[in-house]
Amino acid sequence: MRNASVNHHLTNVSWGLGYGSVAAIINYFLAFEVYGSVTILLGQMIVFLALFTRGLTAAVIAALMASAAVYLYTQNAFFFITLISEVLTVYLLYRRKVPILLADLLYWVLLGIPMSYLYLPTVLDLPTDFLVIIMAKLVFNGLLYTALAILLFQLVPKSWRVVPMKPVSDSLTGRIFYLSFLCIVVTSLSFSFLYTVRSAQQIEQQIVADIGAKANSLREVTEDFVTDYVVAVRNLRDSMASLASFEEQLELMALTQNNYPSFVSMLRADANGKILHGVPTDHFGEVLTQTSTLPDIDDRNYFQAPKATREGYVSSAFRGRGFGTQPIIAISEPLLKNGEFLGIVEGSLDIPELNRLVRRTDIDPRYQSVVVTDNDNQVIFASDQLNLIALASFSPRNLLNLYTQDLPLTRLQNRDMLYTQRLNKYGWNIYVFSSPEQLTQLFAHNLIVLFVFLILIGALFALVTRRFAREITRPLESLAEQLNHDTDLPLAIDQSEMSREVRTIADNLISARKLMVNFNRQLQTQVQEKTADLEKLNGKLEKLAREDGLTELLNRRTFDDLAEQRYHEAMATRKHVALILMDIDHFKRINDTMGHPVGDECIRMVGLILKEYFERKGCLVGRYGGEEFAVFVSEVDDLRALAKEFQDALATSCQVEGQVIPLSMSMGIVEVRSSFSGGSFRRLVAHADKLLYQSKDSGRNRISIETL
Ligand code: GH3
Ligand code: MG
Ligand code: MG
Repeated sequence: MRNASVNHHLTNVSWGLGYGSVAAIINYFLAFEVYGSVTILLGQMIVFLALFTRGLTAAVIAALMASAAVYLYTQNAFFFITLISEVLTVYLLYRRKVPILLADLLYWVLLGIPMSYLYLPTVLDLPTDFLVIIMAKLVFNGLLYTALAILLFQLVPKSWRVVPMKPVSDSLTGRIFYLSFLCIVVTSLSFSFLYTVRSAQQIEQQIVADIGAKANSLREVTEDFVTDYVVAVRNLRDSMASLASFEEQLELMALTQNNYPSFVSMLRADANGKILHGVPTDHFGEVLTQTSTLPDIDDRNYFQAPKATREGYVSSAFRGRGFGTQPIIAISEPLLKNGEFLGIVEGSLDIPELNRLVRRTDIDPRYQSVVVTDNDNQVIFASDQLNLIALASFSPRNLLNLYTQDLPLTRLQNRDMLYTQRLNKYGWNIYVFSSPEQLTQLFAHNLIVLFVFLILIGALFALVTRRFAREITRPLESLAEQLNHDTDLPLAIDQSEMSREVRTIADNLISARKLMVNFNRQLQTQVQEKTADLEKLNGKLEKLAREDGLTELLNRRTFDDLAEQRYHEAMATRKHVALILMDIDHFKRINDTMGHPVGDECIRMVGLILKEYFERKGCLVGRYGGEEFAVFVSEVDDLRALAKEFQDALATSCQVEGQVIPLSMSMGIVEVRSSFSGGSFRRLVAHADKLLYQSKDSGRNRISIETL
């Protein structure tokens, strides 16, 4: 007994390991494939199959292995809790007769979702919009693999099943509805998932292409913008080298600034970083006259870099001094003569001017925004809605991205943003951000459509299957009803609404009923005939039991019974009765001289005469022995006279074969008056017998009579 149960457990454990391996493989490879926007943990379908076919132990083992596979790529142990508790809950609810699909829905709504809602945000920095979608997805995901498991279970060989799975409903309607609804759930969920994945990919690609193109164009715009001004400074430097006059140089510089209005200022410094002149002249003129206040620029990178590298230089953004505090970029070129460093020419580029250019790019402010940072990650430009301060340090922090794999995700102003990044040749970063709203809206939209669709299709299916099942069951029910009614009539069934299969059943039933009715009728007539025969036979038997065969008089036993009964009744009502015993005289001689058959005939004739004389007057007459007779007399006035008449009749009435055979009879008669009390019928008989022998002894053909 113990051994058997250990074996049983071991079998379930190995089944659990088998199912678990399949579940783990599916979960690892398949779920990994689609990880991202849609994760279908199809392995859980196999776990449920383990539950349906091998019971809880196998299912828990399988669930452990399936969760381990999920853990391998999510590094998240939470799935151990949700997936195993899902199996346990469904098992418990199923044992309480809750349909499995409903049980799984209940699990997710009441346990799975609340647990995930509390737990997931503590480990993942999840976008809030997306959290809701993840929850809804978990429910649909659960429904999908559960429905799949139930359908798959229908295909599993019966020999694999040890847990008796009761059908969800007793009625045909219920079963048809459940299975067909499951089919719809599976197909609609799968299609919805596939459709959502596909359209999400499309939207994703659109977003990638859109913000990618915008980022590229911004990279060009910013690059071209700076390059224009770099070229302008270089040209100015080259032209300056050939001009000796200070005034001419200043004039050329003013001309350049005029042509390139984004230069807020330009200057020329000597090899020591001392400003020699600059534009706008009114400002620099003033500066230049007060030589003592003239700032040295040899601390500035735009001076030091060209001095060191003998190459042109573009600075990071900074706030200028002396010309307001707006952010600027310094572009400088070294002045060289025969390899000797003579100083620099510098132009300060106004960043707000760049902003005007960037704004011309077609950015949809509802979903999109732009940030441009310089090579030090300082903000040069940022879309207004981002509220970023110029020159603030900026680099986006990446979040776990569940929307898409193609773009990184960050959060700006508490909004989730997908983005793309480009680097221009001046080391500037161009970021174009796009809200994933289009994606979340798509997911939400599809989930709502799916939900509504499932409700509608569920209602429709409930109606259709009920009708459909009724078409099957109604003819069957009416068949059954007919079978119960009028069991002795042939069936008359309306077959117009029946399906072919039911019609076959009906036909078979009709011919079966025909056979039965015919058989019943035959049986009935046979029984009637046999009963009549039996009754006849019974009558004969009864007569045989009561009567003597030769004379058809009562036999001795019946005579005694009836006479005793009458005797007691007479005694109770004080009536006058009598008992006669008689014996044919010398009958032996008749037998001896004429033969036994004549003797028999004589006895029969005596019977007839007794009937005539006594039975007709209401007396009981019986054959008491061979040639002995008894008569129980009630209410005969003159019995002696009647007996005498009978004696006389015997002498002449017996004829055999035309020959009269004279007979004589000796009699003993006991008359019982109403005053007589006491004495049994037996004593009465004994008394009459004694009197009979008195008659014999005194010469025969006598009547001895005595009254008690
Ligand atoms: P008794 O009574 O006058 O003294 O003389 P008995 O010859 O009548 O008396 P017994 O008792 O000697 O003989 C009776 C005979 O009746 C004997 C038997 O063969 C004959 N007997 C009895 N029953 C039948 C019967 O059913 N058929 C025929 N044929 N004879 C019978
Ligand atoms: Mg006798
Ligand atoms: Mg006799």
